[in-house]
Amino acid sequence: MQAGMVITAYVIAAVLFIMALGGLSQQESAKRGIWLGIIGMALALLATLLSPKVMALTTGLSYILIAMLIGSAIGVYMAKRVAMTEMPELVAILHSFVGLAAVFVGVNSYLDHSQVLTPVMQNIHLVEVFLGVFIGAVTFTGSLVAFGKLRGIMSSKALNLPQRHKLNLLALLVSAVMLVQFVNQGGNDTYLVIMALIALVFGWHLVASIGGADMPVVVSMLNSYSGWAAAAAGFLLGNDLLIVTGALVGSSGAILSYIMCRAMNRSFISVIAGGFGNDPIASDDEEEGEVQPTTAEEVAGMLTNARSVVITPGYGMAVAQAQYQVQDITQKLRAQGVEVRFGIHPVAGRLPGHMNVLLAEAKVPYDIVLEMDEINDDFANTDVVLVIGANDTVNPAAKKPGSPIAGMPVLEVWDAKTVIVFKRGMASGYAGVQNPLFFMDNTKMLFGDAKASCDQIASHL
Ligand code: NDP
Repeated sequence: MQAGMVITAYVIAAVLFIMALGGLSQQESAKRGIWLGIIGMALALLATLLSPKVMALTTGLSYILIAMLIGSAIGVYMAKRVAMTEMPELVAILHSFVGLAAVFVGVNSYLDHSQVLTPVMQNIHLVEVFLGVFIGAVTFTGSLVAFGKLRGIMSSKALNLPQRHKLNLLALLVSAVMLVQFVNQGGNDTYLVIMALIALVFGWHLVASIGGADMPVVVSMLNSYSGWAAAAAGFLLGNDLLIVTGALVGSSGAILSYIMCRAMNRSFISVIAGGFGNDPIASDDEEEGEVQPTTAEEVAGMLTNARSVVITPGYGMAVAQAQYQVQDITQKLRAQGVEVRFGIHPVAGRLPGHMNVLLAEAKVPYDIVLEMDEINDDFANTDVVLVIGANDTVNPAAKKPGSPIAGMPVLEVWDAKTVIVFKRGMASGYAGVQNPLFFMDNTKMLFGDAKASCDQIASHL
């Protein structure tokens, strides 16, 4: 393939990526968006493999093909195996690979002396190497910590090191000094290694300092970092498409983080600096009292007599895979003339849009699935709210200063006449905060797996 054709293919791929992002902004067009992304990526890979630079390689090409084969096999195996609830962990670990790749590309480019550069270009190259390794290393360890927290192998509570902001600032300052020295000396292994070690610890500390309630922002923030790491690798490899793609991922991840911060009433800067989700946790015992258990049969009776029902799903619905049973209940109630709507919190579940994907999979009509802001004022006129596996997103403690989730907007389900909470026991939600909703007079608890409970209700209906 001639160089001109490769560039043309890259431009087409870049346009396809932009169209893919556009498609992903609406549920109806999301599938088309994914396909456009797949076609763009296939085109980009093919054009790169057939580019004059790669075709000129002899043994190198076979190494690339073998690596691609192994990578693809692992990718297909993982994608087939992963449960929907494990998706955020998979995304986090994939981000760590992007970070690690950026580190390798940076080090490789630093060690490669095959190109003769002018002094100015040499300096620019060294800055690129330094930044590429820095961003890559931060993304790598940050993503590993996010993976650990999401998988539950690390505590979701924020690590509260004293003077943590000053420590972060110190790490940045020392890295900046290393950068100046590194460039001034025309490249020096020691400075690069010291910076890489600092960046690894910095990335780890940055994410470890963020509390459970703010993890949604961390996931999208790391998504953004991985984009910038890829863009940095693109500069080092002289690959324009990688620069464009990295910038697209970097900026869309940053915009998503900003949107999530706004939805959670958090300051973007404070979340990045680890300023939220780490206040002392409000006493867990404080809100305890008597809960009122109920049965599937009783709930079915209440639903049949209701005029208006709102369902607020959460992570537990994803764990139980109860979306089909939820749709069954919805259909039966609507057939009986009951108004049924869904209220979706922006961070319900474990990844942005988690609930929307599950409900779409079960063919719940889009027009009855409302955002938190659209439904919150209607709870006062709602007869029954079914809280299916949600906890933090319906927690009135968010209204209480001092709580780790203080200030986070929540679905105000307690304003409804009756609230039914589906869960297995009295465990707290992801943020580890007790939920006073469970002890309110108008709340009844339907204990058990959400799928089994929904099945029983559907059969009574
Ligand atoms: P939570 O994680 O707060 O609570 C889930 C509830 O589901 C638990 O109380 C659990 O209680 C219950 N549950 C678990 N399994 C089952 C089951 N099989 N059947 C019935 N109930 C079950 O969920 P929310 O969706 O309300 O909140 C999401 C949380 O995750 C927020 O804190 C958010 O910040 C965080 N987060 C969100 C991300 C995102 O992008 N959306 C990313 C990372 C974190 P029990 O064990 O007693 O059954």
